[in-house]
Amino acid sequence: MRILDGKIVSKNVIENIKKDSAVLISQSGRPPGLSVIIVGDDPASEIYVRSKERKAKKLGFRSEVIKLKGSVSDEELSSVISGLNSDDGIDGILIQLPLPEGFDTWKYLDMIDPEKDVDRFHPVNLGKIVLNRTDIFPCTPSGIIRMLDEYDINLTGMNCTVLGRSYIVGKPMASMLTNRNATVTLCHSKTKDLSGILRESDLIVSAIGIPGFVKSSMVKDEAVLVDVGINRIDSLGEAKKLCDREQVEKFKKKGYAITGDIHPDAFKKSLFYTPVPGGVGLMTVAMLMENTFHLFKNRIRV
Ligand code: NDP
Repeated sequence: MRILDGKIVSKNVIENIKKDSAVLISQSGRPPGLSVIIVGDDPASEIYVRSKERKAKKLGFRSEVIKLKGSVSDEELSSVISGLNSDDGIDGILIQLPLPEGFDTWKYLDMIDPEKDVDRFHPVNLGKIVLNRTDIFPCTPSGIIRMLDEYDINLTGMNCTVLGRSYIVGKPMASMLTNRNATVTLCHSKTKDLSGILRESDLIVSAIGIPGFVKSSMVKDEAVLVDVGINRIDSLGEAKKLCDREQVEKFKKKGYAITGDIHPDAFKKSLFYTPVPGGVGLMTVAMLMENTFHLFKNRIRV
């Protein structure tokens, strides 16, 4: 088993952006601009937003977080989005998901100018992904493809199973693997004989959010295992069963640990696997920076 190392690959992505952006920033007279809208006070979302903001600032981007109360009105949220659409210094707009209960997520995602839609969740951009008519893709699946490429994993003809059909991960992932000539099965909670499908898979991407769901008995030897799940574990007993040694130590210090959807025993049978943390999550943030930089380059050409 070999690690698909998100630390190394994401660092390379960031280094390349740094290298390429210096000249363009001085030529255009402004940095790439990223705005993140966060509504309500979900602690996990706040952590994700802070890490995006830190990374963008480190790269010298203009990075702003617009924090709105869970009680924000439709008019106010809509006017924040339109304001960012017409702000010339902003290249990428992102709404941190999930929005609190009661918000019509699609309504607000639809409002983002597709040219500034850095997450690529606007229906126009999702359509272009299916058609393979776009240069940039949603951050998480795009980070996964980048990692697979870095480790020379040839997807052509591979039997790939994507577990989870969200528009954030599963659906674009399935399209992107199809675009790369893989044979793709997209599974979800109503799938029959999931274990049978997984056992036939050369590559599994799991994005369901259930700790340790994919067991060793469900995967074939030498499969490539990509774990998107980020699950918080609040009991030491569970951490010992589901987490690696480093996370068990973290639990002892901090009272919680993080693990993915794939059981550590399954990794032992794999050809390659992505650790959690240290895998897909780091790539997601790096690809967000790359997408922002790409949108910046598109806009300064105009
Ligand atoms: P969603 O909650 O939107 O979707 C979960 C999917 O899993 C659904 O399609 C659901 O099926 C499916 N599912 C749930 N239970 C089962 C089951 N027992 N068997 C088969 N399928 C099942 O998930 P997201 O895509 O938003 O996130 C998934 C996980 O990935 C979470 O842990 C999240 O934190 C993590 N994540 C990590 C990122 C990263 O950068 N590493 C980025 C984004 C998410 P159905 O559609 O039938 O309900």
